[in-house]
Amino acid sequence: MSAATQPCEKPVLRDNVLRERGQREVFCGLTGIVWMHRKIQDAFFLVVGSRTCAHLLQSAAGVMIFAEPRFATAILDERDLAGLADAQEELDRNVARLLERRPDIRLLFLVGSCPSEVIKLDLGKAAQRLDRRFNGTRVLHYSGSGIETTFTQGEDAPLAALVPEMPATDAHQLLVVGALAEVVEDQFRRLFAAMGVGNLAFLPPRRAAELPAVGPNTRMLLAQPFLNDTGRALEARGARHVPALFPLGAEGTTQWLRAGAEAMGVSPSRIREATAIPEARARAAVAATAERLQGRSIFFFPDSQLEVPLARFVTRECGMRAIEVGTPYLHRAHLARELPLLPEEATLSEGQDVERQLDRCRDAKPDLTVCGLGLANPLEAEGMATKWSIELVFSPIQGYEQAADLAGLFARPLARRERLRV
Ligand code: SF4
Repeated sequence: MSAATQPCEKPVLRDNVLRERGQREVFCGLTGIVWMHRKIQDAFFLVVGSRTCAHLLQSAAGVMIFAEPRFATAILDERDLAGLADAQEELDRNVARLLERRPDIRLLFLVGSCPSEVIKLDLGKAAQRLDRRFNGTRVLHYSGSGIETTFTQGEDAPLAALVPEMPATDAHQLLVVGALAEVVEDQFRRLFAAMGVGNLAFLPPRRAAELPAVGPNTRMLLAQPFLNDTGRALEARGARHVPALFPLGAEGTTQWLRAGAEAMGVSPSRIREATAIPEARARAAVAATAERLQGRSIFFFPDSQLEVPLARFVTRECGMRAIEVGTPYLHRAHLARELPLLPEEATLSEGQDVERQLDRCRDAKPDLTVCGLGLANPLEAEGMATKWSIELVFSPIQGYEQAADLAGLFARPLARRERLRV
């Protein structure tokens, strides 16, 4: 999304951004199903893909033994790929079988993959046809393919697909956008209630029928920095972006809550009253956990798009020294409040040329490297401590009560390495 589409405040630009357009090491958007299927409890994600896609999902999400699964892969075989079978007809048969067996499914996402895009299988048309046929189950589609994606687009794409489904409203409301763990969402509900913010909604909802409304008096507070298409779709429905830090760490959480509450007309004293004690508690908890991080250096490879707010947290609250902060895509408007808080000496890079970045990382010898799974094992073998960036997306890390856990996620690989050295 270009910054020009954002009507919010003028973004603060850093002119020293290193832009790279080379080979990238990232997961595809199918990975988003791993956390999204837990979030919307009556939704089902049907990937239309290959055995490779099925394996990726299975190994990333594991097998659901006790519950009915809420994702699956309709496998395109050689006959489909060679155009010898009618893939649309087979898809209809698969969906009919699924919905017959699982009448509890209220929302079905058909998820495109590299193979379905290569054979130009029109899932938009399929979703429309199946939606008409299966009254009572909404059928939508989005692409999770690895062609030009970062894995967190696997959240952005289904949320953007939900936006046209949202009812219209003129009510003045605060809409929190981005999947949060239920425990985190409940904490934020309590904090906003304590500040007197009554008209509060969350996207995604926990159930398909609870889809929030949107309109010109909706103030959109992003809980995740990677929701480019969703933000644009909500703005097209009239919502206005509330510029804020992301709710990571004590500082980020207070600034995020404050921005949302101010947009709803809450007074500064009431905001302070509700946030002062939990913020102080979070700061103390982070300080205790972050002792091991003080003065240590960190290098972020671009992977999740969470890198900028995470770097702000580890440098400002944990005393770490950021060498490079790489992000797959720098959304200047959504990150307008974050960018000025990054340390000047850190290299900010956008995109990737993996070999060159590996060279920079090896030269810098950081104490901790945050990267994707594909890079972590080789770097560990070279003696470097690493943190899987995907773990930071799967874990509940937002809010006051999770701030120390977030610091702990960075401290753990350093502790492990020290133990190995003894
Ligand atoms: S969508 Fe593409 S990148 Fe993702 S698992 Fe399937 S084939 Fe691989």
